[in-house]
Order: sequence, then structure tokens, then C-alpha cells
Amino acid sequence: MKAAVGGYARARDLRHALELLSSADGAGRVLAGGQSLVAALNMRLTTGDVLVDIASLDECRGVVDEGETLRIGALTRHAEIGRDPLIRTHAPLLADAVGHIAHAAIRNRGTIGGAIAHADPAAEFPACALALGAVMHVEGLGGRRSIPAEAFFRDTFETALADGEILTEISVPKAAAGEAQAIEEVARRSGDYALAGLCLVRREGRHRIALFSVGPKPTLAAGAMAALDGGDVEAAVAALTDEIDPPSDTQASGAYRRHLAGVLLRRVVARIEGEAR
Ligand SMILES: Cc1cc2nc3c(=O)[nH]c(=O)nc-3n(C[C@H](O)[C@H](O)[C@H](O)COP(=O)(O)OP(=O)(O)OC[C@H]3O[C@@H](n4cnc5c(N)ncnc54)[C@H](O)[C@@H]3O)c2cc1C
Repeated sequence: MKAAVGGYARARDLRHALELLSSADGAGRVLAGGQSLVAALNMRLTTGDVLVDIASLDECRGVVDEGETLRIGALTRHAEIGRDPLIRTHAPLLADAVGHIAHAAIRNRGTIGGAIAHADPAAEFPACALALGAVMHVEGLGGRRSIPAEAFFRDTFETALADGEILTEISVPKAAAGEAQAIEEVARRSGDYALAGLCLVRREGRHRIALFSVGPKPTLAAGAMAALDGGDVEAAVAALTDEIDPPSDTQASGAYRRHLAGVLLRRVVARIEGEAR
């Protein structure tokens, strides 16, 4: 099927992009890598959108070391995240996640900002952002806002981004000395979205566990985090499987996803303990 769009404009800079969105009377849609949006347009899941192409906004691209944090431009592509030396050193979770995302063609066009703004509950980067305690920086004609990951993801494909705002950058705390970061998932085939996935960050003895594909949005497993802080993996698995309520669909039952979440937690703990030895 062919897409039915209401118009297209290529933004020269961020201000121009925001003005284009504002003049579209609510029909404006940001086009970044197009890897989710164009598929949705072709399937006519959305029609009549005025596409505001932000792909040439250089100010929203690249990775900058800011001392305590890394600032990642929203237009940085998945493949660039995977090979960036600053990311590999200071936020290895993001680099590792790239290997789980789709296929090379998609990773060469899709952007981290697009993945986070799209907020697919099965996507890797939103859960990584949550596990890392990232902050999203967004800009509208009314000014800039910074939104912690915990408040950013609201529901399936729904975020704290307001109409007319653009996600410009993501700040990620740099890994502390001895910090462990890992991602594990189960997918039916390589490149498919995960049936269930889990990110673990162990920072100064405290754990953050973010799950994906087990609910309407990426979720922190607070009970499991507390149990792992106390060193009890089996209590963490029990807490984890209690605190999620995964959906059943054509891919997997909720019960199977719950089981997988426990398996992934044991697996990821074994991995970071093995790497620490
Ligand atoms: C076959 C296939 C398999 C895939 N598998 C996976 C997978 O396993 N895991 C995974 O995580 N993803 C997967 N994806 C999605 C892919 O990673 C996309 O690249 C990503 O979700 C969207 O990034 P994008 O830059 O292409 O955004 P676009 O498609 O351009 O935009 C997506 C949405 O986000 C909005 N948006 C984009 N950028 C911004 C911004 N800066 N500010 C505000 N709003 C913005 C758009 O308006 C749109 O609503 C898959 C896609 C395909 C086609």
C-alpha cells in the first residue's frame, strides 16, 4: 500500500522544524530515520500527516562527553551508537543493545531519538534509557524541558512529548568505576522484536532492572531491584515475576513472557558476575 501523506518539508534547523510543526495545525509529524514512521504510513495506520523531516539537523547528532554524563544527539543512528567509542566505554548497555535491534539496514537509518520518541514497548533503547537513569531533553517553541526516563514513557507508543515538541538529546550518566551493564532478550528469530527483554545496571552496589516487551511500556522492577541489592537472586526472580503482568498475543502467552523474565534475570546476573571475576 502507498502512504497517504498531507505534505512534506525538510527543516533547515531546529527552529525551522519547530515552526513547521507549529504551522501544521496538529497534523505535523517528525520524520527522523523513518524506520517506524514510514512503515506505519505505508500500512495506512496513520494518514494525512505533514512530515517534518529533521534528518539534516546537525545540532541533534553525535555524542559529547560532558564530564559526568554523555549527551547523545537524538539523530544519532543505531549503527553509530554501536560503534561510538564514548558509548562503548561509558554506556556499554546502549552499544550492546544495538546488536539486538532489527537488521543492519534499519540500524543504518533508525535513530536513538526516533526509537525513544516512538516508545514501542518491545524496543530496546527505551528500556536502556530507563535502566541507565537517562534524561530526555525536548524543545518546543515555548522553550526547553528535561524529562527523566521514569516520567517520559507513559503508555504504549505514548510519551511525555507534547504536540509540537522535538526530542533533541538524551543525557546518560557515565558508568562509575566497576559498574556492570548488560542486556538479555529472547526473540523468535535474530532481528525480531523481543518476546521479553531485560536490562540490568549495577552501579555502586545498587541495581536497576528495566524490562521490555512485558507490558505497555518499559518498566522498572522495584521489588527485584531491592532483592538484588540484598544479594538474593532467587528472591529477585520471585519479586520480578510477581510485579509484571505481561500481555498474551499471537507471539507468546503472558505466562510464558513472565517465565522468560525470570530466566533473563538469572542469566544477566550470572553474566555480570562472570564478567566481574
Ligand atoms: C522490520 C523492522 C524491525 C524492527 N525491529 C526493531 C527491534 O527489534 N527493536 C527496536 O527497538 N526497533 C526495531 N525497529 C524500529 C527501528 O529501530 C526504528 O529505527 C525506530 O523505532 C525509530 O527510529 P527512526 O529514527 O526511524 O524514527 P521514525 O520512524 O522517523 O519516527 C518514529 C516516531 O518517532 C517520532 N520521532 C522521531 N524522532 C523524533 C524526535 N527527535 N522528536 C520527536 N519525535 C520523534 C516520529 O514522529 C514517529 O512518530 C524495527 C523496524 C522495522 C521496520
